[in-house]
Amino acid sequence: MSENTQGVGAASEQGESWTSEWGTVSAQSTSCANTQGTYCDTPVTVLRADALITKQRTVCNAELWFADGKIIAVGEQRKLGDPPANSVVKDLAGRVLMPGLANGHTHSAMTLQRGVDDDNGFMPWLAQVQAFEQHLTHDDVRAGLELAMLEMIATGTVAFADMYYWDYELLETVRRAGMRVAAAVAVTTPDASMFPGVTSRTGAAELAHTAKLAEHYANSGQIIVHYGPHAPYSVPREYFEQIIALSKQSGIPIHTHIAESPAETEQMLARTGLHPASYMRELGLFEVRTLAAHCVCLEPQEIADMVAAQVTLSHNPVSNLKLGNGVAMFPEWLAAGAKVSLGTDSVASNNSLDLFEEMKLATVLHRGARQDSTAVTSREVFNVATAGGARAIGFAQSGELEVGMQADIIALDVTGINAIPHDNLLSHIVFAASGRDVCEVWVAGRHLYSEGRYLTLDAADIKVRAAASAARLRELSGV
Ligand SMILES: [Zn+2]
Repeated sequence: MSENTQGVGAASEQGESWTSEWGTVSAQSTSCANTQGTYCDTPVTVLRADALITKQRTVCNAELWFADGKIIAVGEQRKLGDPPANSVVKDLAGRVLMPGLANGHTHSAMTLQRGVDDDNGFMPWLAQVQAFEQHLTHDDVRAGLELAMLEMIATGTVAFADMYYWDYELLETVRRAGMRVAAAVAVTTPDASMFPGVTSRTGAAELAHTAKLAEHYANSGQIIVHYGPHAPYSVPREYFEQIIALSKQSGIPIHTHIAESPAETEQMLARTGLHPASYMRELGLFEVRTLAAHCVCLEPQEIADMVAAQVTLSHNPVSNLKLGNGVAMFPEWLAAGAKVSLGTDSVASNNSLDLFEEMKLATVLHRGARQDSTAVTSREVFNVATAGGARAIGFAQSGELEVGMQADIIALDVTGINAIPHDNLLSHIVFAASGRDVCEVWVAGRHLYSEGRYLTLDAADIKVRAAASAARLRELSGV
């Protein structure tokens, strides 16, 4: 029997009702009603691991069953009874199961710019990035995206919110690979394409293109489409207002950068007399569903306004520090009950897509900055990187290992030196584990990765194409 017969694509074609919802979904039952034969027509996968950790609990000697892409049983091995006769049992001794991670903000195809101008400050870095991207072709973007998916899958990320030059072909590349994406089509001005090599459409035409993509994937469950106005400082006021109006009409969410740097604040104060987030509020952005990346330079009242409006705030600590932009008020966001995700931002400002790094940094950074070891707890950060982040970017049924949730699961190797001892699993995951410990990945029950092998992507081919693209682009741009 095949270990997996129901991928995300198959689930989406069946039009399941859990798709693309921004709100809360509850599926908290913890035991399975199944005994013998209940699922006799549906292959059941049974995972037996040393332990399992999810939002509210840890289970030792854990067993998790899934079928049709959803979790159908979770508990201690001896308490679940015998699995159905048609089950495929996977013995994961030396492994612990946890929810797959959600990356709240990235630009995946920028993997090709890993290491571009790492040490010369924000504005020179931005100039280099833009010089590089003027020469991008569609094949380059696809290679960069696929390279990013190799890295994300291998380090336990199952869903990501992304802003770049998305089109149908690239979204299909993600669908076939099996990951979940909330994809924002980036725009800056109505009159010109920001990246002529990638798309000949003007910014105005990109909005119609975005709406078509959103309509096409409306019932996907795997792919969500956002408008992607880049930032308050890079998008003209009238154009931003037009995008907000379209979002109000269509319900298509907006993904943008807000208050990333002190330079942005200075620029917006000079231009508008307002801080970036206040300017966005004045334009009406917070009246539509919005994902705001970075938010480093927020005033306390702006935080309160964004929380009240249920804006998703994406914390990107490595990128914020590497670019010298500062430290976001992450503890205040959490205390205010904000919808929060954890993001890597692009590889050009990170330089990896490993969310385990972000989890550790998001915990220790704020403790150190405030000289308070209780400023952020490991439980809070774990929840933001899993269930909270997944919900924040639109995948409300990912991020928890509970009955009824999507089978978005990763397994960590806990036999390594860094895992001795690992009695406190939460502590191990946040402070000692890394993406290199991930050894299995399932999304909607589809097996994407197993012990270093990619099951949906041709890693050797992608690595060759991505390296060739990066080399050519560096030569052309003189970076
Ligand atoms: Zn960004």
